[in-house]
Amino acid sequence: MDSIAHRHLVCPSCLAINRMPASRPADGANCGACHKPLFGGQPQSVTAAALDKHLGKGDLPVLLDLWAPWCGPCRQMGPQFARATTLLEPAVRLLKLNVDTEPEWSARLQVQSIPTLVLFRDGKPVARQSGLMSAEQIAGWTRSHLS
Ligand SMILES: [Zn+2]
Repeated sequence: MDSIAHRHLVCPSCLAINRMPASRPADGANCGACHKPLFGGQPQSVTAAALDKHLGKGDLPVLLDLWAPWCGPCRQMGPQFARATTLLEPAVRLLKLNVDTEPEWSARLQVQSIPTLVLFRDGKPVARQSGLMSAEQIAGWTRSHLS
C-alpha cells in the first residue's frame, strides 16, 4: 500500500499524467515527460479529447471557458480569464474550449450562450456562469464554489 498521498496532474502541454506527492508544491513543478511547467500562468486551449483527459485523469478542479472567436464578449473576457489563471493556479486548472471547432462539449453541457464558464470537480460540472466577467469576479466565483 502507498502510504503517501499523491495527486495526479495532467500536463497542459503534452497531457502526460504526473503523479506528485500532495505535500510537494505544484507551483513551479515541471512535467516529467516534456519538462514544461505544469502551471504556466496562461489558460490552455484544449480539444474535446484533451478535456476528457483533464477531467478523467486529473485531480484538480477544472475551470472551462467556452468561447468562440466571433463572439465579442468572449474576446473581451480572454485577457480576464488569462489573468484569473494567475490568481487561481495551482489550485485550479484553467482551460479554454472553442465551441466552433469543438462542438461536442457545448452540446453535452447544453450551453446556450457564450462566454460560459463551467467549473468541474471530480470530473463533473458543479457550477456554471454565463456572460462577461472580470478576472476578480472569475476568481471569486470559482473560489466560492470550491470552499
Ligand atoms: Zn508534459
